[in-house]
Amino acid sequence: MPIDATKPYDDQNIFAKILRDEIPSSRVYEDEWAIAFHDINAQAPIHILVIPRGPYVSWDDFSANASADEIAGFIRAVGTVARDAGLVPRGYRLLANTGRQAGQEVPHLHVHLFAGQPLGPMLA
Ligand code: C5P
Repeated sequence: MPIDATKPYDDQNIFAKILRDEIPSSRVYEDEWAIAFHDINAQAPIHILVIPRGPYVSWDDFSANASADEIAGFIRAVGTVARDAGLVPRGYRLLANTGRQAGQEVPHLHVHLFAGQPLGPMLA
């Protein structure tokens, strides 16, 4: 069920558990600021989720409350994940569902990285 992106951070959410290695994920990247793993329900040939290590519910929470170092580190990590996956210059798409109307399900900020085929128009 889509979440209310303004609610307090719940450290029992599934991505918090993945960050703590309490449940498995197929991790493809990690650094001081972020980890990345394959989405379990891939919507494209390449579908990776990149999440910050910090406890942020959504893009809204992160952009308002994360430090400049966390924001820079996270954005650099997203770019590195894409580059390491060989997606430059082929291309890729980033998406961060934020809140109920966007259909955000997991209350820990995650950026979807889609690639591996022509992706078609947005909001199709
Ligand atoms: O943006 P939204 O919150 O809807 O996306 C959540 C994503 O997390 C889904 O694509 C879902 O497949 C993925 N997921 C996952 N591993 C889990 C739980 C959810 O990759 N254990």
